[in-house]
Amino acid sequence: MADDVVEPTEHEPEAPPPLDPEVRARRQAAMRHVRRLGDPILKTKARPVERFDDELREEVARMAALMHDALGIGLAAPQVGISHRVLVYRVEPDSPIVALVNPAVEWSSRDEEIAEEGCLSLPLIHVEVERPVAVLVRARDEHGDELVIEATGLEARVIQHEIDHLDGVLILDRTTREQRKAAMRALREAEQSAASAA
Ligand code: ZN
Repeated sequence: MADDVVEPTEHEPEAPPPLDPEVRARRQAAMRHVRRLGDPILKTKARPVERFDDELREEVARMAALMHDALGIGLAAPQVGISHRVLVYRVEPDSPIVALVNPAVEWSSRDEEIAEEGCLSLPLIHVEVERPVAVLVRARDEHGDELVIEATGLEARVIQHEIDHLDGVLILDRTTREQRKAAMRALREAEQSAASAA
């Protein structure tokens, strides 16, 4: 399952073993804080961070906790309603969560790859997105120290997905027209069945 070709970006792999009820409840609680498609902040370019203070560090800690509880592997500040150029990610379950503040892609490989991605803001939707296989990203951490990240594979994909969020770009904007239409149809059907169940 470490294969990044099929791993949806912000979700656990599909058809995971049934979640422990406590884990599921925590995930549902976290998901209530995540903005969904239709929220204008998801289509807005986020503002650069200017102050590396305790408030920023609290914001990063809160995002990291939400991402962890939501079982995501990446989360961008606009997804939790904050217009800041901040993202967190963790590709390996046991590695520390990395925060990137004001990230900028300095270089991306000419080599691109298509893989399926999901998004915490678009639950149940998976679409194929083509992206460069490798990127070099310059950013700061939550303390203001400079970071240079050379990433490939899933890590490169997650970082690019989250930077897209900072620019108001969603995976629906990056996929084919056919897949976008199918995804929108699935979202409408999910909303309708949720409404009729309520
Ligand atoms: Zn996303």
